[in-house]
Amino acid sequence: MAERIDGKTKLYGLIGHPVAHTFSPFIHNRLGELTGLNLRYVPFDVTDPDMIGAAVKGAFALNIQGMNVTIPYKQAVMPFLSGIDPVAGKIGAVNTLVRTDTGYLGMNTDYIGLKRALEVQGVNIPSYNAVIIGAGGAARAAAFMCGTCGVRGLVILNRTVQKAVDLAGDVKKAFPWMNVSAMPLSDAGKVPFENFLAIQCTKVGLAPDNAACPVEDAAFYQKLAVAFDCIYNPEKTAFLQRAANTGKKAIGGIDMLTYQAIASFEAWTGKEISNEMADGIRTELSAFIREQNRPKNVVLIGFMGSGKTTVGAKLSKKLGMKQIDLDAMIVEDARMPVTEIFRKEGENGFRRRETKILQKLIEDGTRDCVISTGGGIVVQEENQPLLKALGTVVLLEVSPDTVVRRLGKDSTRPLLQGPDRVRKVRTLLVRRQNAYARSADFTVDTNAKTADEVADEIIRRTIG
Ligand code: NAP
Repeated sequence: MAERIDGKTKLYGLIGHPVAHTFSPFIHNRLGELTGLNLRYVPFDVTDPDMIGAAVKGAFALNIQGMNVTIPYKQAVMPFLSGIDPVAGKIGAVNTLVRTDTGYLGMNTDYIGLKRALEVQGVNIPSYNAVIIGAGGAARAAAFMCGTCGVRGLVILNRTVQKAVDLAGDVKKAFPWMNVSAMPLSDAGKVPFENFLAIQCTKVGLAPDNAACPVEDAAFYQKLAVAFDCIYNPEKTAFLQRAANTGKKAIGGIDMLTYQAIASFEAWTGKEISNEMADGIRTELSAFIREQNRPKNVVLIGFMGSGKTTVGAKLSKKLGMKQIDLDAMIVEDARMPVTEIFRKEGENGFRRRETKILQKLIEDGTRDCVISTGGGIVVQEENQPLLKALGTVVLLEVSPDTVVRRLGKDSTRPLLQGPDRVRKVRTLLVRRQNAYARSADFTVDTNAKTADEVADEIIRRTIG
């Protein structure tokens, strides 16, 4: 990419709504840099659907050399183009506009990206029957990719069955020799194939909803051979994890994203991107996405004995983030141990100190820290929004029995002094349960897990 924008800089862009979270500018501007072309790629947020025609005409008038199109305009732009590539016409959606003398030609590079992403992983597409989950834009591209590659049997699963039936009808019309059927997503375990290629094309499992999975039925995972997920953020979706845990090949959508972008770039510029350059872009993209997902801070909450300090130490090491222990900060500030603060100022005094420290961390613009908190921090209601303002709040869940086992003979806990510890733990836990749930962005059950396992789960569920 030329360092300066000048009169010869060629402009490319993306139209959609919203566009704030797109990774396309990263890919295309990096490709421009690597190929030494004087170009820039910019996202354009077209907020008014009635203006999509004006946006396309305006882009052409402004000499914009090529565009990507994303949700919700992949179909809406089609009437405003000078031509449509035959495969994009069959798919019924375009994601790439290539400039010609008379207007833009609409292409669909999603299916090209998907095909190449499977092939580089050694998947021989026509040797499988395929199951597509979803019936939206990505599913349409996947279904027509199956047809063009010579897949013989195809089942389309969707939550809204009629949309799967409609897509199956369109595929059958384009590829009459194919055996295509539609089924409700809830019947995923009953698909009539063995060793099939599953292509996940719904939004289920997309960050930040990382734990969601479109198919729960174990029979589905037993029967499939290869699982592909169009979602690229997180890189390993819950769907892919289920497939991998069942011993099956699992491929994420980041390759598809890279290759569909490369296909657009090649169509716009006529430059061929080598496999080495494509690999490099993919690696950089993966690092870029992880960096974007990195939380400002990770805040660990949970009952005493839930492992906040131990997990915090592991997490800070794995993420290269500083560890902050809130209780230690309070002790340093008060110049007396926690037990003495409780004795002199009571629980309320200690809670006020917690609030003060949280406010100070926010005012200081604290970043890149793993913050372990005291077990009762959520009791003070005003602390709950302060915790969220600091970063991603993770509740480490623990049962009363585990607490008692983990604390052993530890006698430094002011609220557990005296006999009948189990009852005290149980009562306190029940009392705090709602406040914990309200404060947390997500919960990790720590009972049967090591600190390392808990830290890894937090990383998976935040960064991906
Ligand atoms: P879309 O046209 O809006 O389709 C969404 C699909 O998700 C529909 O089938 C919808 O089912 C289903 N769905 C949504 N919420 C659901 C839920 N709670 N339970 C079950 N099904 C649900 O979106 P799209 O353009 O196809 O994109 C789908 C995904 O693919 C997105 O995550 C997108 O980021 C990804 N994608 C990736 C690439 C890439 O290069 N890797 C390219 C394109 C798309 P209903 O019909 O029942 O609503």
